Amino acid sequence: MKTLILFLLLVLTKPQTKPDSVYICVSKASVAYHQTLSCRGLRSCKHQIIKVSLSDAINKYHLRECHVCYSDY
Ligand SMILES: [Zn+2]
Repeated sequence: MKTLILFLLLVLTKPQTKPDSVYICVSKASVAYHQTLSCRGLRSCKHQIIKVSLSDAINKYHLRECHVCYSDY
């Protein structure tokens, strides 16, 4: 019984491979949204960095995915 509970916990707490929120640089020059705050594409951002939903990044800010932090997929 204990093993079953442990198994269920592992399944339920498994991290999602594609998170629904992304990081963007609030600048007119930015062209992409980022998966992580530590991405080197974000390091050059001189403006504010905010967290938005993936659909907002695409539909509202018209950004594409960053080639640096999304290259793992
Ligand atoms: Zn990036």
